[in-house]
Amino acid sequence: MMKLSVLLLTLILTNATFANENESLSFFSDRASVNSLQTNIQNLGSSEVFIRTQSVLEYFKVGKEPDSQNYLNDLKYIQTSAEISSVLKWFDPAQFTKRLMTLSQTEFSIFQDLDSKNTIDLSVHLGTTLTQPPLRKHSLRGLKIAIDPGHMGSAFWDKETGKYLSDGHGHVLSEGVLNLQTSLLLKNEFEKLGAIVYLTHDELKPVSSMDYKNFNLTPFALNELKDSTHQDWFQHLIASAPVGSQLNSNFENSSDFKKLFSESARSEYFIKREDLWKRTELIDQFDPDLVLIIHYDTSSSATGLNPKSPKQTKSFVFGSYEKTEFGSREARKYFARHLLDKNSWNESVSLSRAIVQKMHKNLNLDLPTSADSGSTQIEPGIFARNLMVPRRLKSSVPVAYLECLFYDRTDEYQKLIQQDHSLNVGGTPLPYSNRVSEIANTIRDGVIDYVQ
Ligand SMILES: [Zn+2]
Repeated sequence: MMKLSVLLLTLILTNATFANENESLSFFSDRASVNSLQTNIQNLGSSEVFIRTQSVLEYFKVGKEPDSQNYLNDLKYIQTSAEISSVLKWFDPAQFTKRLMTLSQTEFSIFQDLDSKNTIDLSVHLGTTLTQPPLRKHSLRGLKIAIDPGHMGSAFWDKETGKYLSDGHGHVLSEGVLNLQTSLLLKNEFEKLGAIVYLTHDELKPVSSMDYKNFNLTPFALNELKDSTHQDWFQHLIASAPVGSQLNSNFENSSDFKKLFSESARSEYFIKREDLWKRTELIDQFDPDLVLIIHYDTSSSATGLNPKSPKQTKSFVFGSYEKTEFGSREARKYFARHLLDKNSWNESVSLSRAIVQKMHKNLNLDLPTSADSGSTQIEPGIFARNLMVPRRLKSSVPVAYLECLFYDRTDEYQKLIQQDHSLNVGGTPLPYSNRVSEIANTIRDGVIDYVQ
């Protein structure tokens, strides 16, 4: 009985980590005992932990991270201290920044070392008077809209990403296809209203042109190592020996470390890193006024239907960093930029609100009030979450990351597989349903509400 309940608990916990857009790498396992780890790390003292961490990163040639101060130089409208305090709960619900940040009326600083706060990471002078960003445009005419259709689509990539459903009767529905169809229809609709629209991809393939089968894993592994310094497995190893050859070899012999460099990481490095980084880069180059990221949700990682899947829609905005996600200067600079930027976060919430309210009213989709793991509810239907594309975007613009609806709900699935119309995708007709049109039109109407 005891064993069975342990097994059940394990299953529940394992399932909980499969939130739809989980971007953490699936092969990490935290075997370190958390209690003994905390004791060991505390006994070492934060300065010693920092010194050991730097020595390990140097030994494995991670490369010194550039000064992140420059990354903030072009921020035009910086929040006041009071404004930062008021949104911090959405950015850092675990209050981890207490260990690496200081905030006064006139100064915001982040440090590289936890607790001791001796080594500055970046520091920004805060104004005390309110400076307001310019008012947004009131029409779609001339508005630059970037749309990122999530995932890739196509049989090969659906298998690699697992982002598809099969009803067991020969029908397969790909999320990548739904995302692309919705995005192409939105592009048409927005262009009719005079907007200038950019899609990160308009065919069923990745955005990155990197050679999937042959790319070098090492730079990705080193990047992951750099970002992992606050992970339990990394901290466990840091506590295992002082700076020197024993510490380095403990890392080299660890299975978590080895997995970073192994062939099994290839697909995740491509799908969850390279391809998403490329999308962000392209959106920033386009210099948009507004960004939409289009996805459809499922209630589990399985590829079957679920009649009990919720009838819901939602939008994610930047935020909800987890405590393991502050591990590198790069991670902290993204956090700081979004936290300090006066314009983009509040506008992202407003844009999200306009869209999910429209989806609720016009399509009768509910607005969820409970958050998935890794996200924090801001209001019904709107959640803060630290997702890759919004995180890395430098553009100080509203961004809505939409999970239009649960496409594994049996009734939605039946509507979505209908072939009512056809779109030309890369020279091939791709059938789509009335349901996809309804969703695209509703998102369009939400965006119109937002700009007015
Ligand atoms: Zn998705």
